[in-house]
Amino acid sequence: MSRKEGKSIRTRLLFMVLLPIVLLGMMVVFMGMTLLYQFYSRGIKDELTSTTNIMLDCLDLTVRGDYSYESGMLLKGDLNITDSTMLYRVKEKTGIDTTIFWRDKRIMTTVENQYGVSAVGTKAGPDVVSTVLEQGNSYYSNKIDINGTPYIGYYMPIKNDDNTVVGMIFAGKNRNLVYWKVITVLLWFMVFFAIACVIAVIVSSLYSKHMVSDISVINTFLKTISEGDLTVTLDEKITGRKDELGKIGAYASKMRCNLQNVIELDPLTRLYNRRSCNNKLKALDSEYSQYTVIMCDIDCFKKINDNYGHDAGDYVLVNISRLICDNIRDYGFAGRWGGEEFLLVYTTGYNTAMQNVRQIQEKIRKYDFEYNGNKMKVTMTFGVYADDNSSPYEERIRKADINLYIGKNSGRDRIVDGKEKI
Ligand code: GH3
Ligand code: MG
Ligand code: MG
Repeated sequence: MSRKEGKSIRTRLLFMVLLPIVLLGMMVVFMGMTLLYQFYSRGIKDELTSTTNIMLDCLDLTVRGDYSYESGMLLKGDLNITDSTMLYRVKEKTGIDTTIFWRDKRIMTTVENQYGVSAVGTKAGPDVVSTVLEQGNSYYSNKIDINGTPYIGYYMPIKNDDNTVVGMIFAGKNRNLVYWKVITVLLWFMVFFAIACVIAVIVSSLYSKHMVSDISVINTFLKTISEGDLTVTLDEKITGRKDELGKIGAYASKMRCNLQNVIELDPLTRLYNRRSCNNKLKALDSEYSQYTVIMCDIDCFKKINDNYGHDAGDYVLVNISRLICDNIRDYGFAGRWGGEEFLLVYTTGYNTAMQNVRQIQEKIRKYDFEYNGNKMKVTMTFGVYADDNSSPYEERIRKADINLYIGKNSGRDRIVDGKEKI
C-alpha cells in the first residue's frame, strides 16, 4: 500500500518537473524554428540580392553594349555571352543557383530538376513575368517552384541602355537545403534539451526517492502507533530534516511521546499508572528475573483530606511522587498503584534497593509539607518482596502487599521485607 502511494507521489513529482520543461522545450523548438528560418531567410535575401548585382555588374563592366538574342544566342553588344561558366563558378563558391533569362526564357542556368536535367529553355512563372518583365521590379519569394524543385529566390530585371527590360537574372537557394540547416540546428538543440530532461528526471527521481522513502518511514511509524505500539521511535535522519517532512516527523514523534504519557502516566503524579506498571513488570519477567518489588502506602492519608481538604491531599501525593521519582531514577521505576498507594521496582540488587527505599522513607519523614499555610508531616509504610526471584510479578506484588499489610497493622511508618522491621 505504502509502496503504491509512494510511487504515485514520485510519478506526480516527475510529472511536475517534466511538464514545464517539455512545454518550454516545445515552445522554444517552435519559436526557434520560426525565428531561425526568418533569420536565415533575411540573410539569404541579402546574399541573393548581392549575387545578382555582382553578376550583372561583372557583365556590364567586362562587356559593353545592349543585350540581344539571336539564333539561340544571348549577345551583349556584338559578343556572344551564352556561356554558363560564370554561373557554375558562382554555384561552386556560394552554393547559389543562378539563371540568366532572355525575356521569360532561361538561356543559361545552373538549376536542374531532380533527375539532373537542366532547366535551360524553360520559362519563368506568371508572377515573376508580371513583376519583373512587365513592371520592371525585382521579385523575391521563398515559395518558388522551378521544375518541381522548391527555391528561395530573387529575380532582378536586366535592362538595356534605353531602360527597357529585356530579361532577368535569378539567384536562388534550394529551400529544402535551407530547411535542413534550420532543422540541424534545432536537432542539436533537441539533443541538449533531451539531455537536460534526462538530468532533470534523474535529479528529481533521486530526490523524490529519498523523500518518498522518508515519507514511508513516517507512514510506518504512524501505522505502528495506530496499532497501539508506542515503543517505536522515529529515525533522527527524519526528525533532523530541515524541511516540512522534518517538521511532520518531529510532530509525529512528539505526538507519540504525548500519547505515551497520556496512556502510561498518571495525570496527577506523572508517575507510571497501574496499567503501564503491569506492562513493565511483564517485560521484566520475560527478560530479567532479578528485581525487587515494593508496595508502599501513605499513612493515615484520609486524615489529610479530612483535615485540610482534597487539594491538600493532591498536593501531598504530587510531592511524595516527586520525592520517590527523584530518588529511584537510577535504580528502577515507580508507579502509582492506586489512590495513595505506590509501587517501587528496583532492577538493582536487593541491598541497593533496601538502601534506596530507606532514603526515600527518611526524606518523606523529614519533608515539610505545607499547603495553604497548613504544615503537615507524612510517613509511609513499605512492603518489600525480597525472596524467590523466579516468581511472576503478580506473585511478587501479592507478597509485597502482604508485607505492607503487616507494616500497617504493626504501627505504620516502617519497611517490612519479611526478614526485618525497621
Ligand atoms: P492507612 O494508613 O491505613 O493507609 O490509612 P489511609 O487513611 O491512608 O487509608 P484509607 O484507605 O482509609 O484512605 C485513603 C484515602 O485516600 C481515601 C481517598 O479518598 C484518598 N484518596 C485516594 N485517591 C486520592 C487522590 O487522588 N487525591 C486525594 N486527595 N485523595 C485520594
Ligand atoms: Mg494509606
Ligand atoms: Mg491505601
